[in-house]
Amino acid sequence: MNIYDFQKRWRKPLFIIGVFFSLACMFMEILVFVIPQFRMQVKCTDEVYKVRYIYVPTILNMSAVIVSFFLLTSKRVSQRVKNYTICTLILFICVVIQNLHGIYASVLSLPSLAIFVSAVFAENRLTYTMTVVSMVSTLSSYVIGQKLFDERDIYIANYIIASAIIIVAYFCSNLLLRFIYSNLHTVKKGHTNEERLLNKMRIDPLTGLYNRGGMDSIMDELIKNYDPEHTLYLLMIDIDNFKRVNDTYGHQNGDVVLRTLAQVILDMGRKDIIPCRYGGEEICVMFKNMEIDDALRKANQILSDFRSVRYDFAGDHSITFSGGFAQYDPKYSKDDWIKIADTRLYYAKHNGKNRIISIPVEETENII
Ligand code: GH3
Ligand code: MG
Ligand code: MG
Repeated sequence: MNIYDFQKRWRKPLFIIGVFFSLACMFMEILVFVIPQFRMQVKCTDEVYKVRYIYVPTILNMSAVIVSFFLLTSKRVSQRVKNYTICTLILFICVVIQNLHGIYASVLSLPSLAIFVSAVFAENRLTYTMTVVSMVSTLSSYVIGQKLFDERDIYIANYIIASAIIIVAYFCSNLLLRFIYSNLHTVKKGHTNEERLLNKMRIDPLTGLYNRGGMDSIMDELIKNYDPEHTLYLLMIDIDNFKRVNDTYGHQNGDVVLRTLAQVILDMGRKDIIPCRYGGEEICVMFKNMEIDDALRKANQILSDFRSVRYDFAGDHSITFSGGFAQYDPKYSKDDWIKIADTRLYYAKHNGKNRIISIPVEETENII
């Protein structure tokens, strides 16, 4: 399990907790309103109570739940923003309660819940942001308490205690965060032997690249974890006139050319450039975590590096390839993505070879 899977697993239950939390708040306020013993303790008119404690917080909380739902289910929103959304939702509900009922230190320190929740996502900055917002909100609830709720007794000591609890929550969350990190590391270690064996089965013996099976599972994984902040591109390569290379210089030398192409790509030495042998003399290269210009520059660099290789069996004759380049879009299936790159490759073949096409060549592309 990687960190993304871990975070993904937690987002749904935390969102459900957020929804229940906001509903529970609404029912509690209604209960206080209808039970005479409780109602008597609140010193305001029925109309003011309904607006202040039932309508306004319910509208605020439900709006936050709806906005969060759309952000969490959108494919265009990054994993990181989704983590922030969950924590902000929980913090928002806590802040609403804090500002409405902030009399006791226990209620005033409620935002520390969101600080603990943020630890699950193992991101220091997120926990820090939650802490700063919680502190600001505690201060603002002091001002709001004084200005809005004149019937209320405000004790500054409670605000100081609540602020101290929030700071303690920050340090405890940091400890929790470290624990989660170290646990993830242990889980990862346990899997390495199994992964090594699996990786071996996914490697093509001639080129040392991932084979078709390996490519399929890597592509599935990349698409599953697609994140607009980490864009994906695919370059489909087919060596030009490879039959002639085989016929002229022999099959073994043809193998040398294939291995050379693989080496040219591997020599770029980048973890976010993933080459695979798609089949025969066709190679797929996936690029991730880079701007489109950067990925295209790298794709063209592969072509120029490969073209400039000189083979002892071929004299001055340079060997080239044609390529189809396509950016991944969440509306594509894996097959759509490959098909678009393949169509562009086909276009490159029919327009002089020795080039990479990265622009739409068929109107049908826009329909996918
Ligand atoms: P085009 O420019 O249109 O791609 O022409 P081409 O000659 O490359 O045509 P095609 O793609 O159909 O040719 C594929 C050739 O690649 C045929 C096959 O013998 C050769 N080939 C496929 N796999 C291997 C391999 O592992 N080693 C060698 N040496 N040749 C291979
Ligand atoms: Mg071919
Ligand atoms: Mg070919």
